Amino acid sequence: MNLFSYEFYSATTRAVVWVAAIVFPVLLFINAPYGRHLKGGWGPEIPAKLCWILMELPAPICFAVAYFTGPNAWQPFPLFFFLLFQAHYVNRSIIFPLLARNSQKRSAAVMVLLAFSFNTVNGFMCGLAVSHFGSYGPEWLWDPRFLCGTLLFFVGAAINLHSDSVLRKLRRPGESGYRIPHGGFYRWISSPNYFGEILEWFGWAIATWSTAGLAFAIFTMANLAPRARSNHFWYRETFEDYPEQRRVLIPGLY
Ligand code: NDP
Repeated sequence: MNLFSYEFYSATTRAVVWVAAIVFPVLLFINAPYGRHLKGGWGPEIPAKLCWILMELPAPICFAVAYFTGPNAWQPFPLFFFLLFQAHYVNRSIIFPLLARNSQKRSAAVMVLLAFSFNTVNGFMCGLAVSHFGSYGPEWLWDPRFLCGTLLFFVGAAINLHSDSVLRKLRRPGESGYRIPHGGFYRWISSPNYFGEILEWFGWAIATWSTAGLAFAIFTMANLAPRARSNHFWYRETFEDYPEQRRVLIPGLY
């Protein structure tokens, strides 16, 4: 099959939605084996920092490969979408793991296998979406989909980055324990970093008006909502003084 064909592109977007439909119910019962939810029995473990880099790096690389082989690679809107995607993933695959205060932590190596495969396909698919199959004329600048989607992306990114930095500052260098986070969106929900991430990808999906973007946003929600639920109950069980009014993932709703 031609990897750059529309048939391949639409097959992968459908596959990502199917994966989301499988992953969501599974993760309601089984926590992905990293961070606070790592328990034994998942086979070999590797340093958590290395795990993040290996898991996430395929996304920006494969996006770039698909992107720069496309006819629209030097058009302003695809380039803008490229930069948003790459900025997120430079942080996620390099800056976030290097800054994380988790040097003693390990993650199950099986996670790398699963996430590496997903990010390879997803990065490639999103690159195809904007550079091969997207069509954005000058009028896209004033299109409400572009304006609202871009705004949503930046709001989500700000919430995600701020919430991750609140967590980072809860540990001094060398520490590995957990404390109750406060401030920002932690006033209302237990996992605002996930909330921000979900907003970001729905924003990217709307701004690019692409099925790949939508499939990725759906997957992100299917992946992170069950973990936000587990984190919330973990906080409640671990800390007696955990704020009662704090919700799971969506301020005021859930
Ligand atoms: P967590 O909130 O579980 O952890 C983030 C970091 O903060 C980890 O280093 C963790 O340490 C530390 N930490 C968490 N809670 C506390 C606490 N209460 N006290 C002290 N330190 C704490 O997030 P994830 O690791 O699951 O995800 C990290 C980022 O990656 C998030 O921004 C998330 O949105 C994104 N992500 C995106 C996915 C997607 O599908 N698009 C999938 C998964 C993550 P430790 O590792 O030791 O627990």
